Amino acid sequence: MELASIDTIRYVCDKYGFAFSKDLGQNFLTDPRIPEAIAQGAGVEGKCVLEVGPGIGTLTASLASRAKAVCALELDKSLFPVLDETLAPYPNAAYVSGDVMKTDLAALADEKFGAGEPVCAVSNLPYCVTTPAILRILGTGRFESVTVMIQKEAAKKLTCSPGDSQWCLFSALATYRADIKKLFDVSKGCFYPQPKVDSTVLGMTCKKVDPPLADAFERVATALFAQRRKTVKNTISRMPGLSGTEAGALLSSAGIDPSRRGETLSVDEIARLAGLMVQTIQKDPA
Ligand code: SAM
Repeated sequence: MELASIDTIRYVCDKYGFAFSKDLGQNFLTDPRIPEAIAQGAGVEGKCVLEVGPGIGTLTASLASRAKAVCALELDKSLFPVLDETLAPYPNAAYVSGDVMKTDLAALADEKFGAGEPVCAVSNLPYCVTTPAILRILGTGRFESVTVMIQKEAAKKLTCSPGDSQWCLFSALATYRADIKKLFDVSKGCFYPQPKVDSTVLGMTCKKVDPPLADAFERVATALFAQRRKTVKNTISRMPGLSGTEAGALLSSAGIDPSRRGETLSVDEIARLAGLMVQTIQKDPA
């Protein structure tokens, strides 16, 4: 059965009484070239894959044709009888019930594939949770790569640099966790129901990060972007655990001009600042 097809979607709606939910970002692929290109771009050959939001299993099937095993996490239980039918030809594919924003994704990967087994995350993400879901998936530190299809505008935030108008906290947090590259654009005409905007597929290669440093990075980046037009010195000296003098010394050690604005700092500079801040607070916890 060709799953990326409007006829199959109609068949599913008739046979299972399935009704699309806008709240769950249910826009299913209808162009069979797209799931194939995503699965190919994700480089999942012989690997274990955690997919978020299988829908009727369109991308799941393309992934399962290449991967060692696929576990797909779906929130909408009304899709389960559909998936029982559409994934039947793929014994290496299974689905589980859950919410990407609540499920312990690292524990799920360990449980389904074994602790220590490298796992790729792949998703045609529901629009409603794009930003938090990407940060949550990257934040687990459990995946070797993350391949996602998201709105084109959101994708621009993840492929820009400091100084670009799109650069924001989301850009900094995601870029800290992964090397991100654009794979290809997908026209809104490739989905049913048709969304208002085009999409982009991004490939992210996850970096190894030290959890305490990642926490500090998040705190520093959040503070910098909350007051993105203020000077770095002003923002850093207001952070808990740091005196004004310490903030100045810290910026000087990091080689960062204190009069710069927070939004201009590169991810490496924020990481340097966060690392020095952890050392300063550890030395002088009061
Ligand atoms: N993978 C299918 C495709 O490409 O045609 C469907 C993608 S559709 C954009 C998003 C899917 O994510 C839907 O199946 C929806 O029910 C599911 N979903 C929405 N919110 C979710 C959540 N919080 N956790 C897990 N799945 C979710």
